[in-house]
Amino acid sequence: MSKRDYYEILGVEKSASESDIKSSYRKLAMQYHPDRNPDNQEAEERFKEAAEAYEVLSNSEKRARYDRFGHSGMKAGQDFHGFRDASDIFSAFGNSIFGDLFGDMMGRQRQQRRPGAGQPGSDLKIRLPLTLEEIATGVEKKIAVKKMVNCHDCSGKGTTSSSGFIDCTQCGGSGEIRQVSRSMFGQFINVQVCANCEGEGKVVRDPCRTCKGDGRIQGEATEVLDIPAGVSDGNYIPLRGSGNAGRRGGPAGDLIVLIEEKPHKKFTRNGNDVLFDLTISYPQAALGAEVEVPTLTAAAYVTIDPGTQPGTMLRMREKGIPDLENNRPGDQIVRVNVHVPTRLSEEERAMLKKLANEPNVMPPADKKGKKEKGGFFDKVKEVFT
Ligand SMILES: [Zn+2]
Ligand SMILES: [Zn+2]
Repeated sequence: MSKRDYYEILGVEKSASESDIKSSYRKLAMQYHPDRNPDNQEAEERFKEAAEAYEVLSNSEKRARYDRFGHSGMKAGQDFHGFRDASDIFSAFGNSIFGDLFGDMMGRQRQQRRPGAGQPGSDLKIRLPLTLEEIATGVEKKIAVKKMVNCHDCSGKGTTSSSGFIDCTQCGGSGEIRQVSRSMFGQFINVQVCANCEGEGKVVRDPCRTCKGDGRIQGEATEVLDIPAGVSDGNYIPLRGSGNAGRRGGPAGDLIVLIEEKPHKKFTRNGNDVLFDLTISYPQAALGAEVEVPTLTAAAYVTIDPGTQPGTMLRMREKGIPDLENNRPGDQIVRVNVHVPTRLSEEERAMLKKLANEPNVMPPADKKGKKEKGGFFDKVKEVFT
């Protein structure tokens, strides 16, 4: 199925402002919200479609990429950040965009569950700090996660006896209590989870001793994560069903791994490029030199031309970070500084004094206090050897 244009989905112009996009999304989300359209597959599709379009168009970086490359520009990123179901959209958007307007509707949607099933486990979030070196190459990470796991003694059921459950008397075993309510958006049939059995339709009569009828206990699990090269701060990886186990056999929540970029001592990241400050000596700048420069993968050499000025920018092609989507490597930009000695021996002082009187050592009169022509990056030269 070919995808619809995101602007078309939200019914806005290509030139629409951020607030136009937001208000248009709000309208669609209200119209197609699952709470207002129970068991309506088409409304759910519309709702997801609008959320996906909003996710892209509300983010200036993603919007720019979409404008240039269309849906194909989004593909890899979508897989990585991808929303799989409506509940994802709630967790990602719930608080920030709907705020007070949708707050409690969202809450209800998250809590809703099939009658008779155990309660779903909650999602877990963990931070994964990565070094720039790890980000440049991609890395496999093993992490230990403390979480609720199924009880071994009752296999998550909450009871070890076959007659351990009785039907709930409050809801007659359906697990839900229906109410009709009115609000400014119209009439809602409000299905609430039965408080007595917490939606399960059954209550435990003879609870398992290990888990006290909960069906789960505190435990730990190891996750192996294959982190692709090129991730950045704020990316996240959702692992379905790796969160807390549900109560009494309910589905497990998700584990959300948030990528964090550790600050680096030597390098500064700028998108996929990496910036490095290189300090050379005054004779190296004047005479030219081959200088070893560290990169995120291995050391490499740059050629310093004779007469190189402080502030000169050198570009080391493809020594940066691979793009998350197309794997194309960024560059390393080297900014050249010239070291001025702060301590001198008698001999060095004598040599410099002698040099100071040479005609080519003093800056020429027309260079004193002169503004450099051209933009900052016009000075970037390619000298990677
Ligand atoms: Zn009940
Ligand atoms: Zn148990």
